Amino acid sequence: MAVAEYLRRVFPGTAEEYFRRAEEAMLAGRRLFVVTANPEIIMAAERDGTARELLLSGKTEVIPDGVSLVKAMGFFHMPAAERITGVDLADKLLQSAGAHGKSVYLLGAKEEVVSALAEKLRAQYPGMKLRWHNGYDGDKDQLMGEAAALAPDLVLVGLGVPAQDILLYRHLEKFQKGVLMGVGGSFDVLSGMKRRAPSFFIKTNTEWLYRILREPSRLGRFYRSNVRFLGRVRKEAKTALKP
Ligand code: UDP
Repeated sequence: MAVAEYLRRVFPGTAEEYFRRAEEAMLAGRRLFVVTANPEIIMAAERDGTARELLLSGKTEVIPDGVSLVKAMGFFHMPAAERITGVDLADKLLQSAGAHGKSVYLLGAKEEVVSALAEKLRAQYPGMKLRWHNGYDGDKDQLMGEAAALAPDLVLVGLGVPAQDILLYRHLEKFQKGVLMGVGGSFDVLSGMKRRAPSFFIKTNTEWLYRILREPSRLGRFYRSNVRFLGRVRKEAKTALKP
């Protein structure tokens, strides 16, 4: 599958526009599955049929959570306004859910991380109905079934890409409503246990560099997905330009 086929599905507007869209779905009780796409999930789609299907499915919406996706869209003349990060979208949706007394289900991260986030949310939004489970114990399929039975307005799954998105997609039909999204390591940041990159890195689109500097073990993963992704984009863009 050509990378351009996946990029065609990516929301090209601003982060604020997408937040409004997702918030509206949440408040209106519609189901919305948001995939925060980065090179890692697009490269995973090469070897995993479910990852491929969920990126292309009409049942999902895809946002560009990676500067290389935004750049690649430019290469293919599909201009995108900006990067839309999963962590910011999740944060805003949590705020809105809290302000409107909505129900939230969190799955993922270490027990101390997800319970710290739950405590923080409870203190901030006493009206929020909140359930959570860490991402290490228990059967994930069973947990998704339990989550679906609660019919939450917002479901955030932080297990890493693409496992979280594949899990959500496999259980999607059990949910009649709710904004569902994979959020990677967002719980670590939103709980306050891990620091987000300083604003300099965010503004200059080099948050990936900060994360590698803080956790050098990320370098291999970054290299494998990003370098391969950009290589594919260049090759496809060149072929497209040939008469
Ligand atoms: N995680 C989990 N269960 C697992 C493996 C990972 O809950 O079996 C969590 C991990 O604690 C972290 C998140 O998944 O909170 C993945 O974070 P990472 O920063 O690697 O994801 P990214 O944002 O880079 O996709």
